[in-house]
Amino acid sequence: MNQKQNALLSLQGLKSYYESRDGSEVAAVDGVDLELYPGEIVGIVGESGCGKSTVVRALMRLLDPSSARIAGGKAVFCGKDLFGLSEREMCGIRGKDISMIFQDPLSALDPVYTIGDQIEEILKAHEHISKSEAKEKALELLREVNIPSPELRLNQYPHELSGGMQQRVVIAIALACRPQILIADEPTTALDVTVQAQILELIRELRDKLNIAVILITHNMGVVAAICDRMLVMYGGVVVEEGTCKEIFKAPKHPYTRGLLAAIPSIKEEKEELYTIPGQVDVMKVPIACCRFYKRCALAADICRRSEPELKGEGGHLCRCYM
Ligand code: ADP
Ligand code: MG
Repeated sequence: MNQKQNALLSLQGLKSYYESRDGSEVAAVDGVDLELYPGEIVGIVGESGCGKSTVVRALMRLLDPSSARIAGGKAVFCGKDLFGLSEREMCGIRGKDISMIFQDPLSALDPVYTIGDQIEEILKAHEHISKSEAKEKALELLREVNIPSPELRLNQYPHELSGGMQQRVVIAIALACRPQILIADEPTTALDVTVQAQILELIRELRDKLNIAVILITHNMGVVAAICDRMLVMYGGVVVEEGTCKEIFKAPKHPYTRGLLAAIPSIKEEKEELYTIPGQVDVMKVPIACCRFYKRCALAADICRRSEPELKGEGGHLCRCYM
């Protein structure tokens, strides 16, 4: 990765709040910075409720304006301020320059259209091509995501495919317009373990071949270990640790990161009971003036209850902790 080239995507102090029932605001994302460079796979990891999905939904402008708002910060893609674009301009980027895939492939596919129709539709929406060209391209895309007998698959409906094959189709659709960024939000969570590994391998293979940048969201450190280059650990709407996977797996700094690492299920040894971090993710009501993790932290001291530590460190390995 060459840090001197321009970032493809840059999030600066992104804040995204939801209105809760009692009228207060929940700081789902509370000041997140992220730079993404071509060809890298960056993991965002943390337990459910830490704000991972809200980060990417905010930058894609997919949040429901009746309950959520961008409370601050910027999202810049290839020099364009995404929050300053019209909805029409944003539609030109979504699905074309930046594509997204989700946990459940079946809900991303339309049950009443064939696989071929669904791939051709996205091609025709963003490119001026004929029906036969679209069909040829759809076939190529199915081959690219290693779907066996692609000619046959073109005429099948989503329910006729296995979960793993469905996710491959979803990835083919996401790649149809040759995006620069692929955002994958828990892409393997609904799949069984062997299929999970195959989908991760596919994402890595496509990154190598197409040089796309990938943001991979997961609650599973094992997934990060399998394919990410760099990672952000999120807790309570903020990044608590950030760095290359190599550094963080070798020497995790934040107590939360250590907890997540201890909770990775081992494939080799059947442990009696898997470690879990005590307590649960708090709902972060603004304003917040403490370490967001202190209630669950074995190392918490007085200062952790009184003020929030900054994210800091050297050589790109950053940590938000007083201890
Ligand atoms: P993650 O993807 O890490 O599981 P989310 O981004 O989905 O986390 O959620 C972060 C926080 O925002 C959680 O506390 C969640 O309860 C809250 N939240 C998410 N979506 C909504 C919503 N539509 N309305 C209100 N609160 C929400
Ligand atoms: Mg999520």
